[in-house]
Amino acid sequence: MTIKSKKIGIMGGTFNPVHMGHLLLAECAREQAKLDQILFIPSGYSYMKEDQNVLSGAERLKLVSLSIADNPYFSLSDMELTRDGYTYTYETLELLCKDNPDAAYFFITGADSLLSLDRWKFPERILSNCSLVTAVRGDTELQEVKVAAERLEKKYGAHILLLDMPRTDISSTDIRARLASGRSIRYMVPEPVAQYIYEKQLFIR
Ligand code: NAP
Repeated sequence: MTIKSKKIGIMGGTFNPVHMGHLLLAECAREQAKLDQILFIPSGYSYMKEDQNVLSGAERLKLVSLSIADNPYFSLSDMELTRDGYTYTYETLELLCKDNPDAAYFFITGADSLLSLDRWKFPERILSNCSLVTAVRGDTELQEVKVAAERLEKKYGAHILLLDMPRTDISSTDIRARLASGRSIRYMVPEPVAQYIYEKQLFIR
């Protein structure tokens, strides 16, 4: 067995926009899975989000870069934004593993992503190239997530670590709705992110 010298967390997301829930998830994963680095990868074009008002890749990238600027463990990749067509997680992981054979990858998710992962493209190719680190928000979710995790472990030999994380119900959907109706998003996103959103009038009709 190859010994991997570095443990890298992948924080993939649409990040439309990035918020404190994403950052807290990444930080809990870093601490509990003892990761050396977290790589934020904003998603490219997603067939699952075609009906949503998604900012351009360049704008989502800018917001993520503002949000992680003060954390030396967090870095950013535009690799999904520079690929044409739909972007799939199995491809991203295969590219990363090929380019960095010394690294062990940990894909960080919330519970919803874990519950739907079976329906993503080539789940077996995702799970053979990374472990999952999944946040559980609340007791009801814990039971559901445990069942789903066991199923993925049996079916694909997945390695899954469940994270203990304080519950925050911040969501990108709620932030967009707040902006559209003139309500505050203060403390839901880092201050530089809020400033950029207001300056560029993003999500504000
Ligand atoms: P997102 O909405 O921007 O969220 C990113 C992650 O943060 C999700 O796992 C989400 O959990 C979590 N999160 C959001 N708010 C949170 C909070 N308040 N507390 C804790 N966690 C929170 O991203 P997304 O659009 O779901 O995409 C996630 C990743 O999955 C991306 O890398 C995307 O490319 C990938 N994906 C791949 C496929 C495929 O390959 N076919 C299909 C779908 C998604 P939840 O999961 O609970 O929302």
